[in-house]
Amino acid sequence: MQIVKSVAAMQRLAKKWRRAGTRIGFVPTMGYLHAGHLSLVKRARQAVGKNGIVVVSIYVNPTQFGPKEDLSKYPRDLKRDLKLCRAAGVDAVFTPGDAEMYREGRRVGVPTIRDGGTPSLPSNFSTYVVEEKLSQTMEGASRPTHFRGVTTIVAKLFNIVLPDVAVFGQKDFQQAAIIKRMVADLNFPVKIIVAPTLREKDGLAMSSRNKYLTGDLRRQATVLWRAIQTAQAVVKKSGTVSAAKLKADLKKLIESEPDAKLDYVEFFEPETLLPVSIAARGTQMALAVFVGKTRLIDNAQL
Ligand code: AMP
Repeated sequence: MQIVKSVAAMQRLAKKWRRAGTRIGFVPTMGYLHAGHLSLVKRARQAVGKNGIVVVSIYVNPTQFGPKEDLSKYPRDLKRDLKLCRAAGVDAVFTPGDAEMYREGRRVGVPTIRDGGTPSLPSNFSTYVVEEKLSQTMEGASRPTHFRGVTTIVAKLFNIVLPDVAVFGQKDFQQAAIIKRMVADLNFPVKIIVAPTLREKDGLAMSSRNKYLTGDLRRQATVLWRAIQTAQAVVKKSGTVSAAKLKADLKKLIESEPDAKLDYVEFFEPETLLPVSIAARGTQMALAVFVGKTRLIDNAQL
């Protein structure tokens, strides 16, 4: 397995593979890998075949974190991640530093991410990719610069890894929708595959942030899955239900846990992300909940 740290080396490799007609499958991650990430690797392998190349990127992208979010605390363990990638049959891991990705400090006298520049605005970098419709609600409303960071880093990674296929998780439903829109709008020659959410036995969606859930918080965190199952059961029983009523009932359920606070729960059309006032079979639901200080998200179709 090749471990690549520089943009130039990654682009060189990718161009070489493409010249040879080798298909490139790509899984972008922020590392601290779990079985959910590895299921995307498997899906990428399936898509490119045994003669194809599977590339995983591991990069905690500063521009998708807000100033008060967990960028510096985000869990990292590159050694363990590389071991997992090797065991999963990954061909190359792209793991650049911030200076490499955001051309930090190449001009003399410009403040850098490390010496106190705002993490969300690397100062020697000024071109962003912004999706303007699908990113207005839910995660976009709660985390105003988040999706600008996501679309920008994914566009950069596509230009560096030159994939034929890229795999994203349904766990981040809105993110996957925005990436698909970006690829269509900007004509990236990449096929986007969205793979299902992997869960722990008790229903908690796997996430690198689950590491923060110590003591009783881990039990309380199952309330997201319980809320999803409750909504699914209501729709199954009643056919249709007022989204406003369902939201109020789910807020009560969620906040019956002592350390859980609902950020949002939304019901919407899965294709357009447009909110619905009546939830029914096929409606998509998504929610974000603080469990202690950890913000968790999940979603499912009703
Ligand atoms: P992250 O490292 O959190 O940025 O996630 C990298 C990719 O893995 C994204 O496409 C996520 O949607 C996906 N992912 C995260 N958690 C899961 C999960 N539990 N099941 C499947 N995919 C996931």
